[in-house]
Amino acid sequence: MTSKGEAFPGSVLSGGAACNGETRRGEAFPASIPSSRPACNGKRVNGSHLCGNASPLHLHPGVRPPISITTGAFYVYPLRAAFRLIADAGLDTVELVAGPELWARGCGYVRGAAREHGIRVLTVHPPILPFPGWTDIPANLQRMAQIALAVGAEVLCIHPPDAPTLDCTLSRRFVDALESTLRSLEGTGTKLALENLAHFSRTDARLWWHDPAHLLALAEEMDLPLVLDTAHADSTPLGVNGVYEMFRGRIANVHLSDVRRPSGLVQTKYLQTLAKHHQIPGEGDLPLQALIVDLLARSYAGPLTLELSPIALAIWSPREARKRLARAREWTERALRTEGDR
Ligand SMILES: [Zn+2]
Repeated sequence: MTSKGEAFPGSVLSGGAACNGETRRGEAFPASIPSSRPACNGKRVNGSHLCGNASPLHLHPGVRPPISITTGAFYVYPLRAAFRLIADAGLDTVELVAGPELWARGCGYVRGAAREHGIRVLTVHPPILPFPGWTDIPANLQRMAQIALAVGAEVLCIHPPDAPTLDCTLSRRFVDALESTLRSLEGTGTKLALENLAHFSRTDARLWWHDPAHLLALAEEMDLPLVLDTAHADSTPLGVNGVYEMFRGRIANVHLSDVRRPSGLVQTKYLQTLAKHHQIPGEGDLPLQALIVDLLARSYAGPLTLELSPIALAIWSPREARKRLARAREWTERALRTEGDR
């Protein structure tokens, strides 16, 4: 197993779809990625900066990042009820987490329910709970891309698989699936973005794609944007600031949440996800205000997606969940305004 931050060991692509030869692979901070132009250096596919997928940069000076909320926080709610609660909490943008209701009722139903509540589906995320037929990430990339297109999402967030090495079968299938999915997204304006993963255990830390440097190297190779998950980043040796510095020229979506460190927490993956990670911003100890200030200083205009745990929102009480979601929105709005007042 290779060490953290090691240079990416050669191309993972046989066809050479990457077109940004400027950045060094696996470097700690991709300072050579310009922050004001696409990393594909202006190459176009079907008239837009697509470079295999899309410009990884989501930069628009003067445009404020929309505040979004994952529907995964309300996984057990019917979608219509989740959309109503989200709208009542003052939000109008969501990251749609694919779930049983989507499979059962289809994308047309989701579009209609969102429209009914004035909700925009800006990003899409694969299922967050193991779901029969949907646990094989490479096998499901195309299906997820079709869902993202059908609901009009701008970004499809993808978790890389739990692969031990770069050259194992699972990694190769993943890279192949990425290539074919990117081809199917060409010219659509929908981007596929790779999300950094959490280290819940020492085993996770040894998995290939759990190393943010390996993810960045793949993103550079395929000219893909990245999703920065603040709680996941905190669980890695680099911490949230380290992963942010590494990713910041390529971020197309931020999964914004805080981290609390309850004493005596049993360290299982699901308990950590629910009770430690994905807490309301400003209610843990991550430097999220400073992160937002820096993102805005760099004209980041992609979504700030509140990726909150159902426990953090107390979803067993819809009234309490609405209050807590409004609190998360207000904190994020204040953080955005604070920057504007500087
Ligand atoms: Zn996330």
